[in-house]
Amino acid sequence: MNGPAVSPLSSLTGPMTDPFGRTITYLRVSVTDRCDLRCFYCMSEDMTFLPKADLLTLEELDRLCSAFIAKGVKKLRLTGGEPLVRRNVMSLVRSLSRHLESGALRELTLTTNGTQLAKHAKELAECGVRRINVSLDTLDPQKFRAITRWGEIDKVLEGIEAARSAGLAVKINAVALKNLNEDEIPALMQWAHGKGMGLTLIEVMPMGEIGTGRIDQYLPLSLVRARLAQQFTLTDLEESTGGPARYVSVSETGGKLGFITPMTHNFCESCNRVRITCTGTLHTCLGHEDASDLRKPLRASSEDALLSAAIDRAIGLKPKGHDFIIDRRHNRPSVSRHMSVTGG
Ligand code: SAM
Ligand code: SF4
Repeated sequence: MNGPAVSPLSSLTGPMTDPFGRTITYLRVSVTDRCDLRCFYCMSEDMTFLPKADLLTLEELDRLCSAFIAKGVKKLRLTGGEPLVRRNVMSLVRSLSRHLESGALRELTLTTNGTQLAKHAKELAECGVRRINVSLDTLDPQKFRAITRWGEIDKVLEGIEAARSAGLAVKINAVALKNLNEDEIPALMQWAHGKGMGLTLIEVMPMGEIGTGRIDQYLPLSLVRARLAQQFTLTDLEESTGGPARYVSVSETGGKLGFITPMTHNFCESCNRVRITCTGTLHTCLGHEDASDLRKPLRASSEDALLSAAIDRAIGLKPKGHDFIIDRRHNRPSVSRHMSVTGG
């Protein structure tokens, strides 16, 4: 990134407000682009991963996250790829937990596929993690294997139970997939709600080349919701996380159901988040190619002034909104980077 080395207006402390008046309080960090699964909508089977040398070290990730926390980030989500396959990732969680103790950070959380959760759930809870999101698109072992290409559902179910036993609140994320899990969505919801877990449904987003067209996978959640409404009483909830999710309560189950609808609902006006990749690239919008390199200023100095100025410049360029399109004329990725790089 070019520009003045250190802007006189740049401050090491927050708040970070973009040109449209949105204050950035939520940071999502992809700690690795690697994964032990290959969900077909996310990665191709022979996905090429980044050379390990390109990745930020865990110490650098800690420094980067801490700089954002100093600038007003209150919620930090670790994601990936699969965050729990990064070697020693728990040392990062443990060191970041100091910001929970100091009160600078309100929430430290992660999104995981759950395969390694049984090993780490207890330590996550000890580090002050209170809630996690676990991605699970089906309860059928064969379908799970088909979606993830080789995953074993039992490991994920075991991970979810370990997390619950450790006292973590679990929310299930499921991508709505045409002809794959669409008939199973009511059962998935009843299962999750029966265990006191929320369920959030996600529309397939056109990110990254995956070797097959999205039109075959895309199931609009407006249709899913209309179908569910024939069977269940759905009541809109006012709450918003500043993100793309909208929630309803389901009278029959007493649970909460979320809809993430980037394709059918515009949520950009309340966007409070930015993302960093495992190589230290900052993306201020999931649906744009915009990117700012933070690794260079991070490595250029052990002080945070350069880094902080680079963050301010990037926030100053946050786009107003995104423009995802999937239709028969646009059956191509809108954004070339994969979700596993950007971190979902
Ligand atoms: N590996 C972890 C997991 O699966 O939860 C964290 C990273 S994953 C990229 C985060 C979320 O993105 C998952 O819930 C996954 O289902 C979702 N996802 C991946 N590719 C997607 C796509 N193209 N469209 C919509 N959601 C996607
Ligand atoms: Fe891995 Fe998560 Fe992508 Fe599935 S969605 S391939 S678990 S990163």
